[in-house]
Amino acid sequence: MQLLRQYAALPERFSTPLQSRPFKAPAIIALNEPLATALGLSPEWLKSPAGLSFLSHGLRPDGLPPVAMAYAGHQFGHFVPSLGDGRAMLVGEVMDAHGKLWDLHLKGSGPTPFSRRGDGRAALGPVLREYSVSEAMAALGIPTTRALAALTTGENVLRETLVPGGVIARIASSHVRVGTFQYFAARGDQEALRILVDHVIERIYPELTNSPNRALALLETVVKRQAKLVAQWMLVGFIHGVMNTDNMSIAGETIDFGPCAFLDAYDPGKVFSFIDQNGRYAYGQQPDMALWNLGRFAETLLPFIDKDTDNAVKIATETLARFDDVFGEAYLSGWRQKLGLNTEQKADTTLISRLLTLMHRDEADFTRTFRQLCNVAQTGDTSGFLSLFKDQAAAGIWLQDWQQRLTMDGMSAEDRAQAMKAVNPRIIPRNHQIEAAITAAVGGNYEPFHRLTEALSHPFDDADDGFDQPPAQHERVQNTFCG
Ligand code: AMP
Ligand code: MG
Ligand code: MG
Repeated sequence: MQLLRQYAALPERFSTPLQSRPFKAPAIIALNEPLATALGLSPEWLKSPAGLSFLSHGLRPDGLPPVAMAYAGHQFGHFVPSLGDGRAMLVGEVMDAHGKLWDLHLKGSGPTPFSRRGDGRAALGPVLREYSVSEAMAALGIPTTRALAALTTGENVLRETLVPGGVIARIASSHVRVGTFQYFAARGDQEALRILVDHVIERIYPELTNSPNRALALLETVVKRQAKLVAQWMLVGFIHGVMNTDNMSIAGETIDFGPCAFLDAYDPGKVFSFIDQNGRYAYGQQPDMALWNLGRFAETLLPFIDKDTDNAVKIATETLARFDDVFGEAYLSGWRQKLGLNTEQKADTTLISRLLTLMHRDEADFTRTFRQLCNVAQTGDTSGFLSLFKDQAAAGIWLQDWQQRLTMDGMSAEDRAQAMKAVNPRIIPRNHQIEAAITAAVGGNYEPFHRLTEALSHPFDDADDGFDQPPAQHERVQNTFCG
């Protein structure tokens, strides 16, 4: 194992060394062995007592301290100048076989100087939720932090009641966030910002090294990455839930799976998160909120974009305007793929939005609608698709128009069906299934969690496991919580 301390070696004000404290009885519930192996981490060692200390409280074999990263953030629109890793730590960076570095980060690992009033811990439920959902995102082909391991700590944490504590070990291209830049900008620390720009370019975007204006190149790149990322979220019905600037990764990966959820019935206004009472981060709001966050990012870079502030604002504004283009392009081409449209026709946007309107009105299940459409493409049998709609006559008219549209593409039905099945998952992490798996796990039965997580690791495959079923009325989860 190659374990570095690259971020920890940045100037003192970037992070705080931690003296980590062992847990009573750490135990691995899930270990992502293929990922561990790809990172040069031996699964056998990770399961040993030394490995358990490493994964649960960040005890490095070299004895050097893990660190808590400093960051700020806009939380639900309100700026908080000091957040930081309050219950997490960066253990260090590990190198994969291609020489790429990955952060190894623990969440739930104990209090830090950034804990404020929090206990520095995580409950097992949210740890398992993050493990399953982040691995499902990876399997769906969406940039995300990866789950390396989920552990119980043998200690209880106080939430509404006493619940088992947990730790998640996760991997990311970097844990630098928009909020990291804001932390230094809020302090007027230009030198730190310059170091941070250099750090993320070296670490995440080496191709920008020789750009004439590195800060501007970085802004452009992050705008593009985030626009594509959010388009991918939208195309699978993912709702992040807490898109605060401290939860927006500079690497463009999905990060911090707190109260996240996937749509069952299609509803652009859908919110699951209990703390998002005003719907700021509703499903359909996500592109706007990502752009808002990128505006906060751009503000931190203005002095580096141009010494003349007015000019810097003008350039940054033009760069931010690219978001809509990149998002629009990724979103529309993603929808064409979902619908099996192989050419670009002007009227496609109308065809897509007509379907979404019907789905919204009839509360059609998002994932099933498109998977059933794959069946129509493959077999011509329309009954499964139509059964998802209350107004089957209207859905039938749409289907005829869609079939008419397909005749413009000259693609065989079989090829189209296969292409559609590769982008329309059969299963997504449904809230009620995650909740059921968590409830069983908290009761000591990890089997449903393992079954669900395994199924979600190949979400496009046909199977008869029942995980494609939407919640029955009584199974519907209305709220999700962090914790
Ligand atoms: P999150 O909502 O998980 O993205 O966290 C937002 C901020 O609150 C971060 O600075 C976290 O470190 C901090 N935080 C969340 N939960 C806890 C906790 N139980 N103890 C200490 N800090 C926490
Ligand atoms: Mg420090
Ligand atoms: Mg966070």
